[in-house]
Amino acid sequence: MQSSAEDRGGELAPTPRRAALSGRPSLLAVYVSGVVTLHLALAVAGVLSTPLRLYDLVTFTALLVCGAVCIEASRRLGMPAGVGRDLLSAWWLPVALLLPPVYVLLIPIPLQLLLHFRVRRTLLYRRVMVTSALALAGACASVLFHLAVPEPLVHGAAWVIDGYPGIPLAIGCAALFTVINIALVAIAAYTANPESRWREVLWNRENLLLDVVELCVGVIVAINSALSLSLLLLALPPVVLLQRSLMHQQLQAAARTDAKTGLLNAAAWQREADTELSRAQRTHEPLALLLIDIDYFKRVNDTHGHLVGDQVLIGVASTLCNQLRDYDVVGRFGGEEFVVLLPGADTVEACRVAERLRGRVRRLAVPAEEGTVGVTISVGVALFRMHGEDLIELLAAADLALYRAKQSGRDRVCLPAVDGPKAPEA
Ligand code: GH3
Ligand code: MG
Ligand code: MG
Repeated sequence: MQSSAEDRGGELAPTPRRAALSGRPSLLAVYVSGVVTLHLALAVAGVLSTPLRLYDLVTFTALLVCGAVCIEASRRLGMPAGVGRDLLSAWWLPVALLLPPVYVLLIPIPLQLLLHFRVRRTLLYRRVMVTSALALAGACASVLFHLAVPEPLVHGAAWVIDGYPGIPLAIGCAALFTVINIALVAIAAYTANPESRWREVLWNRENLLLDVVELCVGVIVAINSALSLSLLLLALPPVVLLQRSLMHQQLQAAARTDAKTGLLNAAAWQREADTELSRAQRTHEPLALLLIDIDYFKRVNDTHGHLVGDQVLIGVASTLCNQLRDYDVVGRFGGEEFVVLLPGADTVEACRVAERLRGRVRRLAVPAEEGTVGVTISVGVALFRMHGEDLIELLAAADLALYRAKQSGRDRVCLPAVDGPKAPEA
């Protein structure tokens, strides 16, 4: 579940400048510190008030080791950004259900550290937020389950053998864990960027299916562990295999997308753009191409570092997506360059869209250590038939227009020819 949350929290970092002015980044800071403080306070209180029992410790260690093995397995497979889902709930759900709540407050800490340093580094505050969200969600599920089943590991795991109501209750608590975890991360994502399509990110069918799979695997592993810890040895290989096939499926999707921004990569964009161009040829509809380049992006990297630079790229990409229609084709062409195909758009419409994108990107404020970072974009616009008959010609014309935009001061929208139609004022 960690990475489902991380995956979903992908828009945590970029924050519109309008929001910055109304104090939203500080709202995000207050929210994240509140969640983290609550987590740490509960963990300390739990450690002080929970009696140490050998069997609890052994179960905790066994599940922790299984989680670490899964992380190491995914490390070897590689986990590019965009490949975000794993099956770690298989290990922290049993901890939540079987052990006193303090253990589920603790287990995400070493596993998230391992993920951070061995698999994929991400912004520290995001990693910390995801860790605390998992811990608090797990603690809620744990407290509820222990109210109904006070000692899940003793009396020969009677709740498993009797079946009812122990197993439905375990499923209910696992579902509660999922919902609370998603909600905690969703609030952070929304606080960071109210314009993000967070509802779609959270509730799409694919994510829901993966949540159900994780929930089922977690409950099955919990049942196995309650019966006998040695059954974990049987559970580990299928979970690792399931995780591998899940990753394989995600890698296939990732092959089409740019890992950093989630947009189409250059090759996939070109394929989709070619299809749109053929359609425009057949239907005699207009079509426009926008080539977008972030201004002085190197300075962002030089001043704030590459990680913040990456968050700016993600912020710009997310702004482009949010401002465009579903059938516009948006891709990352390389570095800090994006490309958009606008089916059905004539000169006026294309320039209007380009100006809107430029205005929206100006309002981005990406959190950095020294405050927030803002950027502007230059946009080159080219029109099908007017500036080119195929993709190569259109790209060349848009590149020329982009060059004009850069030459005439940046942060503007230009068409290729000096004497061509003028872009309307913003
Ligand atoms: P201009 O206004 O003329 O476009 O200036 P610029 O600084 O944006 O352009 P330049 O081509 O000099 O620099 C682009 C920079 O983008 C250099 C490169 O390090 C950086 N870059 C390319 N890809 C990435 C990336 O994935 N992440 C980060 N953080 N930086 C990247
Ligand atoms: Mg640039
Ligand atoms: Mg460039």
